[in-house]
Amino acid sequence: MNKVEARVEIERLRRELNRHSRLYYVLDKPEISDAEYDRLYRKLVGLEAEYPDLVVPDSPTRRVGDKVSGEFASIRHIRPRMSLDDAFSYSEVQAFEERAKKLTEAKLEYVCELKIDGLQIVLTYRSGLLTTAATRGDGITGEDVTHTVRTIRDIPLKLSKPLDIVVSGEIYISKKDFAKINAEQTKAGGQLYANPRNLAAGTVRQLDPRVASTRRLRSFVYDLEGEVSPKTQMDILKNLADLGFSTNAENKLCQNLGEVEKFIQRWGNERNKLPYETDGVVVKVNDMAARRRLGATAKAPRWAIAYKFPAEQKPTKVLDIVVQVGRQGTLTPVAVLEPVLLAGSTVSRATLHNEDEIKRKDVRVGDTVIVQKAGDIIPEVISVIKSKRPATAKPFKMPTTCPICSGKVVRVEGEAAHKCVNKNCFVVQLRKLEHFVSRDAFDIKGLGTKILEQLYKEGLVRDPADIFTLEEGDIEPLERFAEKSAGNLIKSIQGAKTISLDRFIYALGILHVGAQTARDLTGMFRNLDELLHAFPESFREVDGVGDKVAQSIFEFFQDEHNLGLVKKLLQAGIIIKQAVRSTGDRLNGQTFVITGTLASMSREEAEDKIRALGGKASGSVSAKTSFVVVGDNPGSKYTQANKLGVKILDEKEFIKLV
Ligand code: NAD
Repeated sequence: MNKVEARVEIERLRRELNRHSRLYYVLDKPEISDAEYDRLYRKLVGLEAEYPDLVVPDSPTRRVGDKVSGEFASIRHIRPRMSLDDAFSYSEVQAFEERAKKLTEAKLEYVCELKIDGLQIVLTYRSGLLTTAATRGDGITGEDVTHTVRTIRDIPLKLSKPLDIVVSGEIYISKKDFAKINAEQTKAGGQLYANPRNLAAGTVRQLDPRVASTRRLRSFVYDLEGEVSPKTQMDILKNLADLGFSTNAENKLCQNLGEVEKFIQRWGNERNKLPYETDGVVVKVNDMAARRRLGATAKAPRWAIAYKFPAEQKPTKVLDIVVQVGRQGTLTPVAVLEPVLLAGSTVSRATLHNEDEIKRKDVRVGDTVIVQKAGDIIPEVISVIKSKRPATAKPFKMPTTCPICSGKVVRVEGEAAHKCVNKNCFVVQLRKLEHFVSRDAFDIKGLGTKILEQLYKEGLVRDPADIFTLEEGDIEPLERFAEKSAGNLIKSIQGAKTISLDRFIYALGILHVGAQTARDLTGMFRNLDELLHAFPESFREVDGVGDKVAQSIFEFFQDEHNLGLVKKLLQAGIIIKQAVRSTGDRLNGQTFVITGTLASMSREEAEDKIRALGGKASGSVSAKTSFVVVGDNPGSKYTQANKLGVKILDEKEFIKLV
C-alpha cells in the first residue's frame, strides 16, 4: 500500500471506528462484535505506526470512549479515567513485562484480575457517604448516573468508615439475568441486547431508576484513591472488601509472569463456567511505587495490560444467504447456517453486513465458514475455508428487486448499502410501524411486532394512521387475543393520541432524524405547519443539523405520500401539542434546569413558562446553566449545581421570576 492509499484507508477506518464507537458507547447498540472492532482498530494502529505523519489528535487510537450523551448531568472526573492497552497474545504480555522491568529496574509481582465485561463506574464518597456515581464517558467527563447506581445492592451507600474516597469498578449483569431479560424482550417483541455489557450500560443509563432496580445489576470494584495509602494492588482489594464492597473472588497475586500465564490459560479454558461474562484478564503491577515510576501514556497506564481472550470460533456450513429489509429499506444479507453451538448458545444465522463485505470475504452458499461470537450475541462469519468449497458454489449477488415486495433496489451513492425504494414494501412498512409505536415515538404499550404483523397481514393496518381507527372488534378475532387485552390495547392507543411535537417528528421516521434531532428541531419550529413549509436553509440553522439532515427533512415533507400520511394522522384525531412560542424576552439567553417535583405545576408546565419568556429549558446542568430550580426530592442535578456554583432557585423564587 502506498502513502496515498494508506491515507484513504486510514480515513475510512477512522470513520468506521468513530461510527461504531458511538453506537457502542453512546447508543448501547453495537452493530459489530468487539473482535471485529478490535480488528479494525489494530489495522488503524498498524497504519498509523507506519505513517506517523498521518496521525491526528482526534484519531480513535488517541481517544477513550466517546462523547457523553446530553441526557444526563455530566461529572468531571478528578483524574482522567484511562483505557487499558490490549494484548491479544501471550507474547504481548511478555513484551509488556520487559518494558515495565526496563523502566523500573525491579523484579515485579502482578495481580491478575478477570476482565469483567461490564461498564466502568466511578463512585465518589464524602465522609463515608456515596455522593456521586459516574460513567467513564470520554475519560475526562462522565455521565451522572447516581440515581440508578444507588439501586445496585452490592454498592454500599454508606461505608464502614467516614472516608473521602473515589472507588472504581465494573458494573455487570450475570449471564442468567442477561438471558432472562433477553427472553422477556423476545416475548414482548422488543429489541435484544447485544451482550451483557450492553444491557448493563443501557440499564445504568436509564432515566428511571425503577427499571434499574428490577434488573439485578452487580459490581466488582478494583480501584481506590483518596484518604488511604495502600502500598499494593492487593492492599487496595483488601481495603475495598473491608469497606463493604464486592471484589472478585478469583483475583490472584502472581509472583512472576509464569504464574500470570497459568492464570490466563486457566480462565481461557474455564470462563464458560463463570456466572458472568469475562472477556480477558487484566494484569496489573502490584507495587504502587513501581506504578508511579511507570506512569502512563496519553491513553493508558504503563503498569497494566488487558489480555483479551480469543473469541470462540467454529466451522459450519452456509445453507443459504437471505436478505433482510430494515425500517429505512436497507437490505442486509444474512447467512443461514447449519446450527452450531458457540460460546454457550446455538447460532444459526450470522450477518454479512453488505455486498462489499460478502465480496471481501467471498462467502458463497454451500461454503464451509468459520463463525465466531466474542461474548456477544452478534455472531459473524470470519472467513471461508476455500478448500472445502463445492464446485457448484456461486458468488452472491444482491437482488435487483426487493425480496419482500419486488420493488426496485438501488445502491445508495457513496455508501455500501442497498435499499428498497418501494414505500409499500411489507417489511419496510412493518419496521416503520414498529418505529412509530416505539418508546421515544408514540409509545403505545402492548403493540409489539407480532401483533403489528398480524394487523398488517389482515389488512387492518396499512399505515400508522390506521392504528388510531382500530376498534376492539377488529383485534379480538386475531390469534391469541382475549377480550380484555383487546380492550386494553384500544385504551392504550387512544391514550397515545395526544403527543408532543418532537415525538411526532421522530415517529415519522425521517431519514437521519433521531430522537435528539427531533427535540432540537422543536427549539426553532413550534408547530407542524412551520416545519412543513420550511426550506433546507432554515433546518440548517438548528444546532446539530447539517446539510445532509436538512436536505432529508426537506425532501420528506415534499413527498406527496408523506404529506398524505400526516394529513391522515390528523384526521384520525392525533393532537400535536405545540412547542411553546416565546411571547417575551425577559429570560433571553438564560438556561434553566428543573430538578425534583414542584408543588404548583408539572415540570412540563414550568418548562413551557420558561420558553414563553424566551428562556431555554435543559435536562442537564453544566457551567453554562443560569439557574437550577429545585423542587421536592431533588436529584443529582442539585448536587451538580452546588458543585458548579450555579444559582439555585426554590419554587417561590421561580414563580416570582416567571
Ligand atoms: P477495554 O475493554 O479494552 O478495557 C478497559 C476497561 O476494562 C476499563 O475501562 C474497565 O471498564 C474494564 N475492566 C474490567 N475489569 C477490569 C479490572 N479488573 N481492572 C481494570 N479494568 C477493568 O477498553 P475500553 O476502552 O473500555 O473499550 C474498548 C473496547 O470496547 C474495544 O477493545 C472493543 O472491544 C470494545 N468496543 C466495541 C465496539 C463495537 O462496536 N463492538 C465499539 C467500541 C469499543
